Amino acid sequence: MRITGDWITRPETRAVCDALTGAGHQALFVGGCVRNALLGAPVSDIDIATDARPDDVVNIVGRAGLKPVPTGIDHGTITVVSGGVPHEITSFRADIETDGRRARVAFGADIAADARRRDFTMNALYARADGTVIDPLGGMADLTARRVRFIEDPERRIREDYLRILRFFRFHAWYGDPEAGLDPDGYAACAALQTGIGALSRERIGTEMRKLLAAPDPAPALAAMQAAGILQTVLPGAAAAAMALLVHLESETDIARNVIRRLALLGGEGVTERLRLSRAEARRLDALRRGLAEDMPAAELGYRHGPDTGADILLLRGALTGTAPDPKAWQDLRKGAEAVFPVKPADLLPSLSGPALGERLRALEARWIASGFTLRREDLL
Ligand code: ATP
Ligand code: MG
Repeated sequence: MRITGDWITRPETRAVCDALTGAGHQALFVGGCVRNALLGAPVSDIDIATDARPDDVVNIVGRAGLKPVPTGIDHGTITVVSGGVPHEITSFRADIETDGRRARVAFGADIAADARRRDFTMNALYARADGTVIDPLGGMADLTARRVRFIEDPERRIREDYLRILRFFRFHAWYGDPEAGLDPDGYAACAALQTGIGALSRERIGTEMRKLLAAPDPAPALAAMQAAGILQTVLPGAAAAAMALLVHLESETDIARNVIRRLALLGGEGVTERLRLSRAEARRLDALRRGLAEDMPAAELGYRHGPDTGADILLLRGALTGTAPDPKAWQDLRKGAEAVFPVKPADLLPSLSGPALGERLRALEARWIASGFTLRREDLL
């Protein structure tokens, strides 16, 4: 079995592999790039596993004129930027001690040991620089069946790193077979060990949840998380029931899927802190939640929130009430978004000023909105 792809043959990536193999070491693609190439899915980042030790990797790629950046040197990862393309090179390693959050590692392991410290069989597939696939743990069969399966004992794997609970649902959402559902042993272990999620940093939880919510259809995975109580553990008060309809409405309307919109649908308390949202993300989530709480006609939504936030609110309302917004609502939204209030503060000066001026402007604006944006400046004044 061989994988192909522009990324394998491009000179930037060849240069990294050639540097390692030229120095007598192995250079094996691993993880997402191999998995996605086999699935015919887009490949974004390149992970390379090697038997060279981290210090040697730094020297070898340096001599080849490439730029090594010690991004994760403690766990053996050097990022090598080649022609502007980053490649993560990680030395073969075995985890000798883990506390559920991070591992103490030993380098110099072989490929079988390196494969066994990974999370899922479909993530433990390797490929040589010529594309030949190496499958030390039978990941190929699981990938073909689109089955996310923990490597060996799920409970042991989870106790080593509780983030794997969330990764289980994330990879199922992206690559699992929704008809076949989750692997029962893995699911049971996730449910049983979910309190361990509390030991994880909010950054790691937030990153993982964003990736889950970015899947084409995260609804089945989220429903399974909710059924096991895991969604409550991560986001108390959240509810996933309306997600399937939101995903349906997004595809019907051809509006790109969006993590914050989906997060707004889930609801829950303390989301900003729990997932360490950025300021911009928190602001957007807040705007959507406020928009959902108001009972505003579509035209006014467009006028007050703009076309994008307005569309998000329409989609969210539709999903939560179980009725798709009608074509007129979309029309009104657009009309409202384009409307420009014709009265300026200067029109009311100097007879009005201060709070009285603000009040009058708001009253005129309300009349103008109620007229369907038809009243003109002279009608209003
Ligand atoms: P993507 O890049 O699309 O998110 P990926 O499979 O490349 O998917 P990464 O998080 O980039 O995922 O990790 C690369 C590889 O490293 C994984 O495929 C897996 O083999 C291993 N890995 C990453 N995180 C863990 C973890 N928490 N536990 C075990 N193995 C992991
Ligand atoms: Mg990756």
